[in-house]
Amino acid sequence: MFVFKAAVVGAGTMGGEIAQTIAAADIPVVLKDIKQEFVDAGLEKAREVTRSQLDKLVAKEKLTPEQADARLDEVIDRITGALDYSGFGDVDFVVEAAPEKMEIKQAVFGELDEATPGHAILASNTSSLSISEMAEATLRPDRVVGFHFFYPASVMPLLEIVEGEETSPETTLAAYNFAQVIRKQPITCAEVPGFVVNRILNSAVGELWRAQEEQGLSIQKIDAKVAEAQLAPMGPFILTDLLGLDTVMHVAEHLHESYGDSFYVHQGMSKLVADGKLGAKSGGDGFYKDGEPQLEGEGEPDDELIETFGLKALVEACLLLEEGVAAARDIDLGMMAGAGLDPRRGLFPPLMKADLEGLDVVLEKLERAKDAHGERFEAPRLLRRLVAQGRLGQKAGQGFYAYPQPDEGDQTDTVKLETRGDVAIAWLANLPMNAISPQVIKDLGTVWDRVKADDEVGAMVIASSVPVVFSAGADIKAFTQMDTEGGRELIDAGHALLRDLGSSRVSTVAAVNALAFGGGCELAMACDFRIAAESAVFGQPEIKLGILPGFGGTQRLPRLTGPGKALEMNLIGDAISAEDALVHGLANRVVPDHELFDTAVAWARKLAGQAPVAVELVKQASNKGDLDEGIEAEKQAFAQAFLSDDAKEGISAFLGKRTPKWQGK
Ligand code: NAD
Repeated sequence: MFVFKAAVVGAGTMGGEIAQTIAAADIPVVLKDIKQEFVDAGLEKAREVTRSQLDKLVAKEKLTPEQADARLDEVIDRITGALDYSGFGDVDFVVEAAPEKMEIKQAVFGELDEATPGHAILASNTSSLSISEMAEATLRPDRVVGFHFFYPASVMPLLEIVEGEETSPETTLAAYNFAQVIRKQPITCAEVPGFVVNRILNSAVGELWRAQEEQGLSIQKIDAKVAEAQLAPMGPFILTDLLGLDTVMHVAEHLHESYGDSFYVHQGMSKLVADGKLGAKSGGDGFYKDGEPQLEGEGEPDDELIETFGLKALVEACLLLEEGVAAARDIDLGMMAGAGLDPRRGLFPPLMKADLEGLDVVLEKLERAKDAHGERFEAPRLLRRLVAQGRLGQKAGQGFYAYPQPDEGDQTDTVKLETRGDVAIAWLANLPMNAISPQVIKDLGTVWDRVKADDEVGAMVIASSVPVVFSAGADIKAFTQMDTEGGRELIDAGHALLRDLGSSRVSTVAAVNALAFGGGCELAMACDFRIAAESAVFGQPEIKLGILPGFGGTQRLPRLTGPGKALEMNLIGDAISAEDALVHGLANRVVPDHELFDTAVAWARKLAGQAPVAVELVKQASNKGDLDEGIEAEKQAFAQAFLSDDAKEGISAFLGKRTPKWQGK
């Protein structure tokens, strides 16, 4: 399923920017509304956003003013305004961004079902309504999905892909790949009120709203304290002014109706909305006006209040996990991309934060909070279970995620070695995305030599110490900075190492926790086995940069999946899910995310107990044939592709976040 042409229905606050985001990825898009003036406003918004994005590139001297002007026309020309569905006959993907009312949505979905080809995916940007109910208005409920952008859509990286009751896995995956094409960070979740990010944020912020009103606290002091405690990039009242008090109130009321008193609606906010004071969108009059708070309250928030914010976010995140709404990784990624929590700035999403603090410590705090504030702080059963199992977070090596507990003594920079009896674990630790850099290849080589030299060790797991990624692929920048000779040496050393992983008497297991792209996917393929977490994704996207997999991807992938699927992955470059990887032989097992690490270690332990000589001979005999010859051919092809003009264009387009223009040279 590919998207060659898209459409957006509704050219309001969200629609204009969504159309812009799609056009900026060089996909033609129809933008439909019910009146010409609304269409024009949407087009104007798209132009404004594009202009400001291009101005930034000009300021950074990445584009000349003339190039920026030409690019502006190019992007805007891809958007066609419309008042009817006549341009919808050949679209592949529609984003509905009409007003938040079920009657309107169902009417639009019924019309779309008639106006678009049967294969087209019909997606809704709804913040709160049921995807399944919208799907009922169509004859293709399997192709209806939530596609929830955050405001402002041209800036916020997060996209929540919401699965209705009948959404098919193919639709979810196509939506995921389309989200990547338009340069957004997708997470997937089931349809529950508030989805992931709004549900957690509202649950937590509700505690601040409640305390502000019950204790007469100063909103300014709360905002300052939240920012100072690094709970969020900015305080809740300032943020609400920016988002629009009416929008925030609407979501808060909806969540209160859905989940009850655990979600609080700020009464002062409702009054301000009734008075037309909506924040930035009503001339800067909302919780603040000209920097001055507009609500009564002088009280100082204490540290305990600030703590309840974090605790409530954790409770909600655990409930989402218990209900099976989203995977741990997607919950945290959602809070990073949708709520601005950036671990590099000390702002941690809820599950990671709890792991760092210690789950036993957090559990005790929750018990105290429950005594003080009641049932809504009841510690979720999942958290109790983790503590009962001794999974106390980072300090114990496992909590919501697995963590390295490196051996004493010398460690390399980017790969940490942990030895547990006859099993070694090589933890990829090249923050933030575990890019396969020259240093990683060198460090992995050092770790591997140490493992092979240890007579006790019979198997090695390659795992990621970064919860949100296995490895995002080769460090493109570092590779482009190498000279030809240095590049060749690196490729040779990398190949020798990967070849050894698959032929040594030490068995190797990749524990693929999340995204394994390019060099990351190839590293996993070089291991004897790949155990994947349910939320893992695999891909060989090199082709999108005009190059090819350079670490055996053209050779090991067809051996695992058969030539057809391998060619598809290597020539299309789109991601496949863990489930698909299992079906096609790329993954040996798929397990729930939280069982990944234990399963991989259990496999390694089993393998470590097998006869070393026979292990080595089985591996070597199984790999006989033309693998070395194939790798030699790949090396030459890689060098040729890497030196082509197309590769230069592809890599520079990738780094400059634009679509490449191929010359075939
Ligand atoms: P909006 O009111 O600004 O825009 C909606 C547009 O849809 C209007 O221009 C309206 O004329 C048009 N419209 C109405 N009926 C139509 C029809 N039959 N065909 C085509 N166009 C039609 O609303 P918005 O804020 O852009 O929200 C749109 C959707 O996005 C809602 O579902 C909302 O929940 C969701 N959303 C909004 C935000 C936000 O912050 N505003 C954030 C995320 C998601």
